[in-house]
Amino acid sequence: SLHNRYLDLKGNVRVFCRIRPPARKEQQAAVVPSLNKIHVAVSGKRKIFELDKVFLPASTQDDVFAEVSPLVRSALDGHNVCVFAYGQTGAGKTFTMEGNRELPGIVPRTLQTLFHQASSDRSRSYIFTFSMLELYMGSLRDLLVSAPQRITDPAPKCLSIQMDVKGWVEIENLSEFVIKDAKQARKLYRTGSRARATACTNSNEVSSRSHCLIRVTMACTDHSGENPILSKLWLVDLGGSERLLKTNAKGQILEEGKAINLSLTALGDVISALQKKQPHIPYRNSKLTQILRDSLGEDAKTVMLVHVSPSKEDAGETVCSLTFATRAR
Ligand code: ADP
Ligand code: MG
Repeated sequence: SLHNRYLDLKGNVRVFCRIRPPARKEQQAAVVPSLNKIHVAVSGKRKIFELDKVFLPASTQDDVFAEVSPLVRSALDGHNVCVFAYGQTGAGKTFTMEGNRELPGIVPRTLQTLFHQASSDRSRSYIFTFSMLELYMGSLRDLLVSAPQRITDPAPKCLSIQMDVKGWVEIENLSEFVIKDAKQARKLYRTGSRARATACTNSNEVSSRSHCLIRVTMACTDHSGENPILSKLWLVDLGGSERLLKTNAKGQILEEGKAINLSLTALGDVISALQKKQPHIPYRNSKLTQILRDSLGEDAKTVMLVHVSPSKEDAGETVCSLTFATRAR
């Protein structure tokens, strides 16, 4: 389609920045956007970062989804797709991905659009599945398997990452639900969201110290019903990217922070190596990049949404996030 040719021309990775609106107590802004650039004032200097697009604080969920929806088409056309929300805790990742009842985010909109577009194409038929998992401290947890209630209940099976000869990645024992419409998918999404782990840090009341991954797989067949084309679409709300010093992290929180930093660095390394077309792509350095191996690079399409706070207090973190963004671009 025209959309996809447009995306191909522009490369397979797009990096956007979204600046959240200032909270009431945040008066002093450190971030000045101009077209696709951002100026950040930090310790008396001004740093400039260039991205594919900058979403201003006033931008809407519609504006953001308009840039993501071409990838829904790509997934239906057989490409593997990843959409990431990156940024420090409190910068607006979950607002972008999940949103709220009045202002739904990328996840509900993507699910809606997938079914809408699939049903409007009469020459093909699709089977969709939905899974949701969390990567926490280097281990994977199925968010759609209920925790054991009684001592006699079987423990949840261990999830492990496997790759077949064609390079297709599977997560063994991950539960997978066939979804027939967006409503069924949203219900599973709500169940999974409730099961997520959270912990307290000094920099935010409740902070997500894990990566949350949603996987939608699709099998597409034409009239013959033979040789389905398989693809998958990932929607990922990454763990907070904040550095550890600022949060006075100790013990468990410190370990959680280290695990997140490790996997975010590995993700940045993979995307950067792909952008530079390096012969060796370091997928093996973290579970995050192992899981997404077949969905990052080659035929796959990626959108990285880097979230920043407008506030002066957060300028240091904003510079870190935008440095990550620029490397990925
Ligand atoms: P994160 O998931 O990165 O920790 P959140 O999405 O929870 O951050 O956002 C922190 C707070 O800011 C929430 O109260 C959220 O509703 C609000 N917020 C974030 N981005 C926006 C936005 N673009 N418009 C309005 N409110 C936002
Ligand atoms: Mg969040």
